[in-house]
Amino acid sequence: MRVNIITIFPHLFDHVFDFGMIQQARKKELLQIEIVDLRDFTEDKRRTVDDRPYGGGDGMVLKPEPIFLAVESLAGNVADPQHVVLLTPQGELFDQSAANRLSLRRNLTMICGRYEGVDQRVTDHLVDQEISIGDFVLSGGEYAALVIVDAVSRVIPGVVAKGGSVLQESFMDGLLDYPHYTRPPDFRGWQVPEVLLSGDHSEIARWRERQALELTRLRRPDLLNPGKNAKDTE
Ligand code: SAH
Repeated sequence: MRVNIITIFPHLFDHVFDFGMIQQARKKELLQIEIVDLRDFTEDKRRTVDDRPYGGGDGMVLKPEPIFLAVESLAGNVADPQHVVLLTPQGELFDQSAANRLSLRRNLTMICGRYEGVDQRVTDHLVDQEISIGDFVLSGGEYAALVIVDAVSRVIPGVVAKGGSVLQESFMDGLLDYPHYTRPPDFRGWQVPEVLLSGDHSEIARWRERQALELTRLRRPDLLNPGKNAKDTE
């Protein structure tokens, strides 16, 4: 999978993809990340990417021309068509099923907004999908792009060995995760639950399932609501 990130702050990404699972995915060449400097697609001496909003108001707006040129320079081919995402609080909320679906794309381009956002013509005529990572306002789309690359890269087929832990985690089965313990069995008088030391695998599996269900019921009853994951089967 190839991910292109269009940004006015390319150096923000200098080291962030050099660790952990993302680094592994890149080493295995299951993931290629290209950082694209929006200013490389400007035509004036000052490399201007923003301008004042029509109609007035505070803040600047990212101009359409450089964004169109940048996206067009990354155009995919018939086999790997480019999927263009704009990061914006107005977008559809990102969740695990959105991550799963994006992980099937071969050529994903993300446009990072800054200031007051981007010219609406980008949204209307260039973008395939608008995504928000939550109901809060960031200072730039770069942080949202990071979150998305991380969530997507760990579900790219082959990144985690088959049967690995990714499949047993929160949200994969529509539930929150169960509690995890490691050694020592007694830490400052706090014991690891007996059942986990028992070696009885079916009993352990039942305990974990009960814990996951209980926690979900308590904290996120919305996840138990049938129909919520309908888009998974799209
Ligand atoms: N004026 C805009 C906020 C702009 S914030 C508004 O009120 O909606 C600057 C940039 O940060 C946005 O263009 C977008 O790319 C990014 N951004 C901010 N919050 C975000 C969120 N919740 N999800 C994804 N991107 C976000």
